[in-house]
Amino acid sequence: MKFKIFVVLILVLLLWSISSAQVMPADADPALWARALKLHKRSIIVDGHNDIPSPMVDEDFDLATDTVGKFHKDGDPFHTDLARMKTGGVTGEFFSIYVSGDTLKTGGSMRRAMDLIDATYREAEKHPQQLTMCTTSNEIRRAKKAGKICVLMGIEGGYAIENSLYALRDFYRLGVRYMTLTHNVSHDWADAHRGEVKNNGLSDFGREVVREMNRLGMLVDISHVSEKVMNDVLDVTRAPIIASHSGARGVNDHTRNVSDAVLRRVAQNGGVMMINFYPSFLDARTNTEENERAERLRPQIQALREQFKDDREGYNQAERRLLEANPIFIADYKRIVDHIDHMKKVAGIDIVGIGSDYDGVPFLPAGMNGMEDLVLVTYEMLRRGYTDKEVQKVLGENFLRAFAKAEEFSRNRHISAGGSLTKFKK
Ligand SMILES: [Zn+2]
Repeated sequence: MKFKIFVVLILVLLLWSISSAQVMPADADPALWARALKLHKRSIIVDGHNDIPSPMVDEDFDLATDTVGKFHKDGDPFHTDLARMKTGGVTGEFFSIYVSGDTLKTGGSMRRAMDLIDATYREAEKHPQQLTMCTTSNEIRRAKKAGKICVLMGIEGGYAIENSLYALRDFYRLGVRYMTLTHNVSHDWADAHRGEVKNNGLSDFGREVVREMNRLGMLVDISHVSEKVMNDVLDVTRAPIIASHSGARGVNDHTRNVSDAVLRRVAQNGGVMMINFYPSFLDARTNTEENERAERLRPQIQALREQFKDDREGYNQAERRLLEANPIFIADYKRIVDHIDHMKKVAGIDIVGIGSDYDGVPFLPAGMNGMEDLVLVTYEMLRRGYTDKEVQKVLGENFLRAFAKAEEFSRNRHISAGGSLTKFKK
C-alpha cells in the first residue's frame, strides 16, 4: 500500500514537472503537444552553439543562477541556466569559446580562448550532478542514459590558434571539438561572410588547418565564413563538416546562411547544418526592420550613450525602453521549421540540425524565451507531419552521426603530424 502511494506521488510529481516545464502555445493541439513532449524527452538533443561562457568570464556568471527575465551586462537577455537547460531537454550543448575579431588588433586571441575554456571546465566541475564535460559522440549517448547534460566546446574565430597548428592540437587536447574558421572579420588564412576579401577563400595554410582538424577529429565549422571558404573547405575536407549556427539562404538570403549549392555539397560530405534561431537570420523582414530601426534610432542611441556615460545599467534600461517603443516584426519559432523544411527539400533530412545561438543574440523568435522552449521545434515539426525518426535526426542524431564519422576518420589517420604541418607561412 505504501509503495502504491509512493508510485502515485512520483507520477504526480512527474506530470507536474512535465506540465509546468514548458508553456504550450495557445494555438497548439494538446494531444500533439503531449506527443511532442514525450518524443522530445526520449530524444538526444545536441545544440550546436551557445554563448554562455562569455558571461562566465566577464560577469562571474554561474549557471545555477535563475536567469529568467535577467539581462547580460551588454543589455541582451539571458537564455540559459541549469534549470532552463533541464527543462529544454538538451543532452549535448556546445559552449562557444567565442573570441572577438577585435583581438586581431588588440592581441590576446589565444589567451581569451584559454580563459573561456577554463571557465567552462570550472562551471562543469561546480555542478557535477547536472553537467559533465564530453568530447566524443559515445559520451553524449552515455550522458543521456545517465541523465546528465554534456558540455561540449567549440572555438568561434579560427584566429584563436594564432596561426599555430601546435596550438590547434593543444585546443583539441583540451577538449575542443569544433572550430568556426572565422567570426565576422577575415583574417590571415580565411575570409568571413562579410567585409574584406583577404585570401579569396582559404589560404594554403587555411587548407592545412582543415587537414589537421580532420586528422585530429575536430569538426570544421563553416558558420560565419564566406561562400568561397565553404567551398574551399568542402574541396579539402575528408571528414564531415558542420555549420554550428547557420540557416538556409533559400529561406532568407543572408550572408550568415548557407546557399542551396553548398547544402547539396554538404549532403555529399555527410555533414550537418545546425540552424540558428536568431530571427534576423531566419527572416528577411525581421532583418530589414532591425537594420532600419538601428539606422533610424542611431542619433537617439548616441545621445543615450553620452547621457549614461558612467552608468551601464542605466544605459541598458534606457536603450531597452527606446527599442520597445519602436517595435519591429519578429518572426516566430515556426520560422525555424521553414529552414528545416527547405534544407530537407534541397539536400535531405540527414543534413539538418539545430544551433540556437542562445545568449549570443539580442532577441529570440516570438514564442521562445530561452532554452526551456526547445520543444517548440519538436512540436512544430510533428505538426507539419515529420516522423518521430526525422525529428530525432534533426534534434541530435544527425550531429552524432557526423561527429562519429569524423572520429572514425581521425582514428584511421592518427599518425603524428609531419614537419610541414607546424609552421604558418604568410
Ligand atoms: Zn556566431
